[in-house]
Parts: sequence; structure tokens; C-alpha cells
Amino acid sequence: MPLDDGPMLGHGLVMTSLTDFARQKLATLDDQGLRRSLAVTEWHDGVTAIRDGKRLVSFCSNDYLNLARHPAVLAAASEALRTHGAGAGSSRLVTGNHVLYPVLETRLAALKGTEAAIVFGSGYLANLSIVPTLAGPGDLLLVDEWAHSCILAGMHLSGATRSLFRHNDLDDLERVLRAERGRHRHCLIVTDRVFSMDGDLAPIEGLARLAARFEAWLMTDDAHGTGILPPLDPEQVPLQMGTLSKALGSYGGYLCAPRAVVDLMYSRARGFVYTTGLPPASVAAAVAALDVIAADPVLASRPIQNARTFAAACGLPEPTSQIVPVIMGSAARAVAVSSHLADAGYLVPAIRPPTVPEGTARLRLTFSAAHQEADLAGLVAALRPHLAESFR
Ligand SMILES: *Cc1c(COP(=O)(O)O)cnc(C)c1O
Repeated sequence: MPLDDGPMLGHGLVMTSLTDFARQKLATLDDQGLRRSLAVTEWHDGVTAIRDGKRLVSFCSNDYLNLARHPAVLAAASEALRTHGAGAGSSRLVTGNHVLYPVLETRLAALKGTEAAIVFGSGYLANLSIVPTLAGPGDLLLVDEWAHSCILAGMHLSGATRSLFRHNDLDDLERVLRAERGRHRHCLIVTDRVFSMDGDLAPIEGLARLAARFEAWLMTDDAHGTGILPPLDPEQVPLQMGTLSKALGSYGGYLCAPRAVVDLMYSRARGFVYTTGLPPASVAAAVAALDVIAADPVLASRPIQNARTFAAACGLPEPTSQIVPVIMGSAARAVAVSSHLADAGYLVPAIRPPTVPEGTARLRLTFSAAHQEADLAGLVAALRPHLAESFR
């Protein structure tokens, strides 16, 4: 039946089918315990959050160096807001490329030791854009199975032959390279540098060796390492992506790479070409944050130092980054302990499957330069009774 022969369904019926659709999806999510919701959170200072009128010491912010509210960062952002306005007004390729962009990109390239850098609207948008620009049909794209969701999303957009290798497993990567490399034109290997849910580091040296041996391009996502970990050698890792939204306390994403790769992004990265430039204040804030980090050599090491103090006090293995997982096993147990900690005044999220593998539901703690000894000691005291349960 041609659609235009029937009676008009009417807006009311269409709306009903739309909301029915959403409600059914939500009911499925509820059944699986996967429904997510938002809590309004206000910040009192770098580590104290206010939720439902309750003060909680947060162990879940990515503002690792407390730069989102650093006076120099705020001053630079307000100055940019007054001088350049609230928004960029258009894509950077049109008129949105205000003067602060080249300042930030020069700084990022210098920091990483690459020829050039390009700033994107966010880290998510960066990966979604970079991966399909560098790998397409006929190419081989190899990604660590625990890589961030936006790398996987970029992978799906690419049209390349795709394969996930086992987490941090060089033998498995080599196996895939041996089997597949010869049949493909180019090969791109992508990994997180610091893994979001476990806080462990990618074996960069080993990955770089394999990349060199099989003529593959290695790309790292340094979202959690930017501003915290020392730069990688661009000879080993020619593609270094990261975010301005975590330790730099601002918003946006970046890629540090050879000049020609950055030039290619200007024309081919869709999430660069077809989107508005970042607000000038975000760019200025990131530059000021880099200044603060450069002026204080101790600052960047404090989050990891705090993570180590915590782990030692709890008898956990020594962390290699500021992200520390405390495995609880079942989802129910992780949620219960998270809720006990909230009652005690500590904000520590429970991470459940499918975000992490079945049976490894956990508390995920992130440590900040702003945490004080008393914060750490209080958390340890509140958590310790629940740790003992793991060993019963
Ligand atoms: C947070 C994160 C991103 C996304 O960065 P945003 O700037 O927040 O969009 C990408 N990759 C990893 C590994 C991340 O942790």
C-alpha cells in the first residue's frame, strides 16, 4: 500500500510509537542492570564533590592535577572569553581558527617532540576521525581488545580489515601480523597508553618493535597519560593522540604526528572538517595548564604518588598509573561496597560488566594531586574492612 494513500497517522500516534520504543529499550536495560542515569554534582574544591547536599571526597575525577580550577588557568580562560568570544563561530577551515590554536598546537608538538599537532573538538571525536583517515578498505587495523570505546568506534567507521588482539599480548599481536600483514597495503596498530579501567600501561617498546618489523604505524591514545607521564619517542610512536579534558583540566582532543599526517587531517578527518572549532577559552585554558605543568616538575608525579601510598596501605600491588582498580568480583558486591564508601563520605564508583569482564566487577579509583594525606587515610580506613572480605 503506498504510504500516501492511507489516513494520516497523526502526531499523537507517532509520538506514542516513539516513546513506546524508548520505554521498551529502557525496560531491557533495567532487566540487565545496565541502565545509566545522571547525578548532579557540584564541586567544592578539586576533590570535594557535593551530591544531594552531601559532601564526598571524590576518587573518580580525571582532573588529575586540579588544573580545571587553577587560578592561572581560569585567568587565561576568562581573558580568552573576553577577547575572542564564547564560541569559535564556525569550523576551523572556515573562520573558526582563532590565534590561540596555533599557540596550543605548537606547544603540544614541542611537548611530544613531533613535527606538528592538530586539536580536535574532543578526544572521542579525535579517535573517531583519525582512525578512518589513516586506515580504509584494503588496510589492516589492529587494536588492543581493551582500547577505549572511541577507538573501537573509529575502527568500525574505517572499512579496514579489523582485528582485536588480546590485551597487552605481544605474542597474539605478532600471530595476527604474521597471518594478515602480507595481504594488506598498510597496517595501523592502536592502543591506549594507560588503560582506563585497569590503570595498566601498554608495552610500548614491544609494540614499537613489532610495528617496525612488520612495517606498521603505531598509534597511542594517551588520554590518561597526558600531563602525567613522560612523552614517548616519536620515532617509536609516530601517532600520539590524547585529550585536553583530563589532566589539562580543559576540553578537547589532539593528535601529535608528522606534518604531512596533520595536513592530511585538515582535508580528510571528518570530525575535524565538519565541526565547529573549540571555544577559545578551552584552548587558552589548555595552554595555561601546560605552562603550570612545565613550571612545577613535581606536580605531575603527585597523582601516581598518591595512588602508590593508597595501594601500599591496602596491601594492593604497586600501581603504574594514577588509576587503581580494586577487584570485588560480583557486581552486587562492588555496588554494595561503593555505597558503604559513599555513606562514609567517599565517592568511588563501582564498575560492572560489560564495561569490565564478568567476575571482575570492581571499584575504580583515580588519584589526584589535590588529595591530602587525610583523604587517603580516611579512604583506606573505610575500605579496609571490605578488602578483608576478599580474602575470606
Ligand atoms: C577519556 C578518554 C577519551 C575521550 O576523551 P574526551 O576528551 O573525554 O572525549 C579517549 N580515550 C581514552 C583512553 C579516554 O580515557
